[in-house]
Parts: sequence; structure tokens; C-alpha cells
Amino acid sequence: MSPELSIVIPVLDESAVIDALMERLLPCLNATSSWEICLVDDGSTDDSWAKILAWSQREPRIFGVSLSRNFGHQVAISAGLDHVRGDAVVIMDADLQDPPEVIPELIARWREGFDVVYAVRRTREAESLWKRASAALFYRGLRTLTKVDIPIDTGDFRLMSRRVVDSLRQFPERNRFVRGLVAWAGFRQTRVEYDRAPRHAGRTKYPLHRMVRLAGDAVASFSTLPLRLATGMGFTISILCFGYAFWAAYATWIHGRPVPGWASLMVVILLVGGVQLICLGVIGEYIGRIYDEVKRRPLYLVGDTCGSHIRREIAASSGKPSPVSVSLQ
Ligand code: UDP
Ligand code: MG
Repeated sequence: MSPELSIVIPVLDESAVIDALMERLLPCLNATSSWEICLVDDGSTDDSWAKILAWSQREPRIFGVSLSRNFGHQVAISAGLDHVRGDAVVIMDADLQDPPEVIPELIARWREGFDVVYAVRRTREAESLWKRASAALFYRGLRTLTKVDIPIDTGDFRLMSRRVVDSLRQFPERNRFVRGLVAWAGFRQTRVEYDRAPRHAGRTKYPLHRMVRLAGDAVASFSTLPLRLATGMGFTISILCFGYAFWAAYATWIHGRPVPGWASLMVVILLVGGVQLICLGVIGEYIGRIYDEVKRRPLYLVGDTCGSHIRREIAASSGKPSPVSVSLQ
């Protein structure tokens, strides 16, 4: 029988926080009639998996899925969504930045009839100025670039109803920006506000290059504006160059003054060359992503699982020997 609520928690090297997370999370689940917790180990190199294993043995409603390597936060979330069965599913980070005490509020709004209840960061004082500045730029930039109404200052901390989760699981793309996909899916959405806490322990798993990658995925998945900007830039520079050419011809033929200009020539050549390379790069970003999509590799591979519910499922699908599964056919 499926539980009322499932919690999906992606975990990468979070050994230092798992115990604290569970101790704070479990009392918050009294608001539901039945629940399960799915911890997705995204290729941790510390003893996170051992901790997950221990918790799954202590509490039968907790189970773990260990991916065969690090596939990234967004894919780990997708893997979790594939393995849970609840009527509502909450996604939250392992580091206690998403306070579990908000979950009863999310459930209350879902019971009012909403399909997606996303948690908006009212304050994020606890985070560094750099993180706050980059996040502000990212969410606002994304909003101007894309047509999809992705809510500002909202991470992946949210509750989704079963029909939203089932819709998400049908999305075939590999470059997954989950909060964008949820916004795209629509249904009845609402928000609750919360104060973003500092990381309980450990370090962020999102260094600059990963944040840039996530931003790239977000923009490329939901907008073709960069391609149109490239066209716009091409037109602008062509028009400017035409103007310059006319002016040069006029000065030479009418006034008999040839335009001196090694410097100006170099500037124009370098500028146009640079713009061309930028445009090629933009096109390349999209082609690279098309290439990723057409390969149709599985989104992730499961290396191991733990927990009584998972064991029951493997036994039920008898004949399938291995715990190695893939998400998309
Ligand atoms: N995470 C993951 N795989 C990754 C990176 C992060 O599963 O490749 C998990 C991480 O363990 C945490 C959540 O995603 O539970 C959010 O990561 P983090 O707290 O480091 O990001 P931040 O809050 O600093 O943006
Ligand atoms: Mg965090």
C-alpha cells in the first residue's frame, strides 16, 4: 500500500548531517498518516551510505538508493522520484537548510487541493553574501530569459502531488532542471515562506563551476533567447560596419582623403572575430545538449539499494536478479 507522504533526500558526502537530519525530520512526520523516506546516495565517497544503511535497518519506513557514481543533484532527485510511492512527495536537501518543520505546512496546503507547494526563501541571512548575490542574479536573470514562470528564490524544497510526480517522470530530458520542469508542468501551485537556515555541517557541494553549469542547464532547457541574441548581435555589428564602410568611401571619393586606419581595421576584425566565436559557442552549447539528449543513455544507474520496502519490490518483480535499474526505457 502506498504511503500518504514520501520524502526524497539527495545525499552527497553528508555523513556529518544524516543523523541530525533524521532526528529533526522524523518528529515532523506525525502530521501524516503514513510516510516513507528515500535517501538517494549520489556517489558519496564518505560513509554516508553506511549511515543510510543503518537508518534503514533501524526504521523500516526509511530506505536508500545508491547511484553507481555521482550523477548530480538534479538527477539524484529524479532517481528519488522514480523510487517513491507516496500520494504526495516532498523534496528536501540533506543539510538541514530546508527546515523539516515546514513540512506540516506544505502538507496542509496540499490537503487544501494544491498540487505543488513550493517553499520560498523569505530570508537567507545565514548564507554568504556571495551565495545570496549569485542566487539573486540567477533567479532574476532566468526570469527575464525564459517564458516559463519559475518562481524567484525557490530551490527544490517543495511538495508535489502524485500526478505532478508522474508527469515529471515522463519528461525524457537528460539536462534536468527540476524546478523549471515543475513550473512547466503547471497544475495548481502555491507557496509557503520559510527562513533559510545555515548548513548544519560540512561544505556546500555547489562550487562556482557547478552553479554555472546549473545556470547553463536552466537557461538552455527553457530558452532559446541566447540564440536570438546572437542573431541580434550579428545584425547590429553588420549595420555598424556598413555605416563605417559608407563613411570611408565618402571620405575617400568625395573629399579625396583616404581613411588612415590600421588601428580601426584591427579593432573591427578582432571585434567581429570575437563576436563570431561567442555566437559559435552559444550554438555549441545547444548542439552539445542536443547530442546529450539523442544518445538516450539512461539518466542514472543504481548500484545498490537498502530498506525493507525496496527488498519487497525486488522480490515482487521476481526474475529480475539485479538491483541495477535504469530510469528511462
Ligand atoms: N547533492 C547531491 N549531488 C550533488 C550535489 C549535491 O546529491 O552532486 C545534494 C547535497 O548532498 C545536498 C543537496 O544536494 O543534500 C544540496 O546541496 P548543497 O547543500 O551542497 O547545495 P547549496 O545548498 O550549497 O546550494
Ligand atoms: Mg545546502
